[in-house]
Amino acid sequence: MVDRVLVTLDGAVRDVDAPLLFADDIGVLRGDGVFETVLVRAGVACAIEFHLGRLRRSAQALDLPEPELGKWREAVEIAAKEWGSEREGVLRLVLTRGRDSELAGTPDKVKTGDLAAAVPVPTAFVLVVPVPERVEKARSEGVAVVSLSRGISVDLAQAAPWQLLGAKTLSYATNMAALRFAARMGADDVIFTSTENRVLEGPRSTVVIARDKQLITPPAKNGVLPGVTQRALFAEAEKAGWRCRYDSLFTADLLTCDSVWMLSSISLAARVNSLDGLRMSAPDNAQEIIDLVDRGIERAGAIGDW
Ligand code: PLP
Repeated sequence: MVDRVLVTLDGAVRDVDAPLLFADDIGVLRGDGVFETVLVRAGVACAIEFHLGRLRRSAQALDLPEPELGKWREAVEIAAKEWGSEREGVLRLVLTRGRDSELAGTPDKVKTGDLAAAVPVPTAFVLVVPVPERVEKARSEGVAVVSLSRGISVDLAQAAPWQLLGAKTLSYATNMAALRFAARMGADDVIFTSTENRVLEGPRSTVVIARDKQLITPPAKNGVLPGVTQRALFAEAEKAGWRCRYDSLFTADLLTCDSVWMLSSISLAARVNSLDGLRMSAPDNAQEIIDLVDRGIERAGAIGDW
């Protein structure tokens, strides 16, 4: 059984232990690129059309060349097949701006009218690795969360589009630092808050609260990444009679609702079992929400694009 799979956009299955990137790849030098993280379950890349749609939107936000979605689809299929159907996997789609040395020649090439040559060839690959151990526990027992300030206003996304708040860029160092900070406080995860004390998102997940028969999540315009798992949950939950909406949430809402969920493509539904040290007990309908997410991501392929 393979423990990792690497496929480049030409469909070639590569030796995962052989070097792939150049040292001057702009994705490495500046984190200038985009990515997606997709769950492989039963040999299938879950909700892949949503992920491809978001990859496209993220690439547009960074002025990267339009991703060739047909090629991505094929590379993903090859990678998922190589991975097999026996266990779940974490499939990443990685797209960077390419090599700095090619970009460095850009002004000359633009001047000479050689526009096609002015854009570096993007670096693009699909990598599948095993699901981290923390995931099983997060799904079954939930997560202890601390709220941390992100130091930004909910207005920033619209006032400063170059902040790329709604894009899934490769610049995740601050998100990872927040998770390490939380770990030092004995927590598993983080809910970022805005300067107005509004709920934003986790470093790698969407926050959704359940209150009575309602599900609520902060809108993307507040500067959060639109979540595939949250979309899949809302589509499924609406069919089951839940009222689902996008609305600003204050941190106080996290304490007065029935349950708080961290949703992500890999952990799926992780219930917040404590927030800033305060225990949050499981509501009666916790399993219903977990099942809705499961069904949602399995059916998401049929829902279509964003
Ligand atoms: N928000 C951020 C910042 C993320 O990194 C992620 C996950 O990748 C999410 C939300 C959840 O998105 P999804 O459900 O598409 O995995």
